[in-house]
Amino acid sequence: LESAYGSAQRKKRLKVLINPFGGKGSASNLYKTYAAPILAAACCQVDVQTTEYRGHAIEIAEHLDLDAYDAIICCSGDGLPYEVFNGLGKRPNGREALAKMAVALLPCGSGNGMTWNCLGTESVSVASLAIVKALRTPLDLVSVTQKNSRTLSFLSQSFGIIADSDLGTDNVRWMGAQRFTYGFLVRLMQRTIYPCDLAIKVEMNDKKAIKDHYRTYASQEYDPLAERIRLEATSQSPALPELEYGTVEDELPKDWEVVPGQNMGNFYSGNMAIMSKDTNFFPASLPNDGLMDIVTIDGTVSRTTSLKMMTEIPAGRFFDMPDVAIRKARAFRLVPHDKDGYISIDGEKVPFEAFQCEIHQGLGTVLSK
Ligand code: ADP
Ligand code: MG
Repeated sequence: LESAYGSAQRKKRLKVLINPFGGKGSASNLYKTYAAPILAAACCQVDVQTTEYRGHAIEIAEHLDLDAYDAIICCSGDGLPYEVFNGLGKRPNGREALAKMAVALLPCGSGNGMTWNCLGTESVSVASLAIVKALRTPLDLVSVTQKNSRTLSFLSQSFGIIADSDLGTDNVRWMGAQRFTYGFLVRLMQRTIYPCDLAIKVEMNDKKAIKDHYRTYASQEYDPLAERIRLEATSQSPALPELEYGTVEDELPKDWEVVPGQNMGNFYSGNMAIMSKDTNFFPASLPNDGLMDIVTIDGTVSRTTSLKMMTEIPAGRFFDMPDVAIRKARAFRLVPHDKDGYISIDGEKVPFEAFQCEIHQGLGTVLSK
């Protein structure tokens, strides 16, 4: 992330959470071997806890003494940071808690998007050093509503072939990150249409305008610290911001663009640029511009084109392909037509039912190089 602020805090006080089931199950060893010595050498104060069940990190973050730590470090994949943001958000002073407590990921899972984006590496030792030197940075977070539940997402929301490749491959965890590619190829050979209703509160849909926005925002003129101060001054409540567009249960706002979804192949909304190694899926994504980047691709494109899309991602040529639609948006609603399937929020499976998302500018805080 380009827009970190302040000077790096020395001797950080860290709450370290270890997911014993992340990735290939070696988070604890990775932490002890590659992270602990570096954090010790940097005089960080560490308090290590292993998560005991799914959802445990939500509870830990919800009840943690916010004055006793500077950051929560997850040794896992993107699943634990997702829980941590949600735990912080569940507190009565959710907005304050998310502004105060920084979150970082030591890459020990199969999907380590957060580390790629914030620390630029997949090496646990390099990431540890980056955490020692890192700065606090505001990060946009997305509210997701389904029926009457509300959760927070920091990385991505997907429906279609990517959600399927991600969540439908739990049986081949031993493959590590390769399971996503494997899942994608298997699905490409089987079925590629995922019908849905889709409506988007669009901010920009022209690729040139999106690139210009990216250049302006990523330039020096933007000052994230001033931005955070402005946001804090304008919001009156210490609690989570209210939903500007209501929930998925409310009537659809009139000014949203209705996007044909009968032939949807891939719906992918990103809050950070890089989703996994060599996958800069949202090259125009910015950490705190208050906008999500939404990619939609028809499932009727040929298999050859789909494969080409995949191979063009590392070189960044994916963005300009004519079959790839990209929008910057403030909110969207997606209603699946099928009875079962997968919806992925930050790589976690959520119920296969209508969901609505809206973004909150700079609501969360990460450690970034
Ligand atoms: P990966 O990238 O390999 O999926 P994650 O760290 O994202 O790894 O974790 C995967 C899932 O493991 C998350 O949904 C998280 O809630 C869950 N989890 C965390 N701790 C435990 C535990 N002790 N037992 C079972 N599941 C856990
Ligand atoms: Mg953004």
